[in-house]
Amino acid sequence: MVRFSNQALFLMLCGAFATAFILSGANIVTRSISPQFGISSVGIASPRVVLDRHRGTDNSDPNGWRKFVVSQKSFETPEVASIVLTPSSGKSTLPFRPGQFLGLRINFGEQAVRRKYSLSRADNGHNYTISVKKEQDGLISGYLHDELSVGQIIDIYTPGGDFTLDFSAANSKPIVMLTAGIGISPIMSMVDEIVRNPIYTDRPVHFIHCARTRKLHPFRTFLRRLHLDRPNFKYYIAYSQDTPLVKHSNRETTDITEEAKGVAPVEAEATEVRYGRLTEQHLRDWLPMDKDAE
Ligand SMILES: Cc1cc2nc3c(=O)[nH]c(=O)nc-3n(C[C@H](O)[C@H](O)[C@H](O)COP(=O)(O)OP(=O)(O)OC[C@H]3O[C@@H](n4cnc5c(N)ncnc54)[C@H](O)[C@@H]3O)c2cc1C
Repeated sequence: MVRFSNQALFLMLCGAFATAFILSGANIVTRSISPQFGISSVGIASPRVVLDRHRGTDNSDPNGWRKFVVSQKSFETPEVASIVLTPSSGKSTLPFRPGQFLGLRINFGEQAVRRKYSLSRADNGHNYTISVKKEQDGLISGYLHDELSVGQIIDIYTPGGDFTLDFSAANSKPIVMLTAGIGISPIMSMVDEIVRNPIYTDRPVHFIHCARTRKLHPFRTFLRRLHLDRPNFKYYIAYSQDTPLVKHSNRETTDITEEAKGVAPVEAEATEVRYGRLTEQHLRDWLPMDKDAE
């Protein structure tokens, strides 16, 4: 049975934090990111990930920092930029597990400022992708959004972290993913892994995201396509400040997405969309209460 502890329910309802959860049987792994103070905490952890593949990246400094080129920069929403980083050595990236984060260092004159960002795409051996929310008056997120450009070189530290997707191939239990705000980033690398790795093809996935509005929901188009392509990928959304789409001739309309071009019927937006904050009732309705889940 999927059970929710008081701690998990509190975090789900706490609007000040962007929270990502993976439910693991009776255990719940959580990461909470405070937009105000840049604090992140990781709850119950899986065993430390051992980097078991070495791809010969030879350009690290004595402290382990490596030079990466900004090879792509795009905006998922007005608030979230995805940045692709490629080793300047031309060699492969060090491997990582979905859900891990990297260290990033920006030099402002004499001062080096460091931040951590979750990888938002699965390991591909060629580059790393991070997705950064621009915080109000945030030093590094503001710099990454407004000043960093393609071709620039920045320092990256080896990915790490214990909040990972590590489900056994022999296990066929449904996977439950519950995300809010920019807490979606590490979960997207898990989703990417689920899409790429055939061991997950038949696993039912229940993906829930909480956002203020459609316009501020990163990866919305990707997730929508995924739920259309894979019947076992259930995609639920709770919008706290949005309203139902208006239907015109069996088409939904909005000025920001592909619906405006008339390519997607209203029924396809997600498995189900509800309005208002996520509640325990949503979880009772959306999650497989009669089955075990991870
Ligand atoms: C493991 C981990 C993974 C993370 N993954 C992601 C991710 O995938 N995507 C993402 O966007 N973020 C992620 N973060 C958060 C990220 O590391 C940064 O904390 C975030 O981008 C803010 O950094 P900043 O330099 O822009 O803001 P900062 O300059 O650190 O400021 C943060 C906030 O505090 C306020 N502030 C600063 N100084 C003061 C002060 N003296 N008094 C009052 N207020 C102040 C600022 O106005 C701002 O709103 C992650 C953090 C961790 C630890």
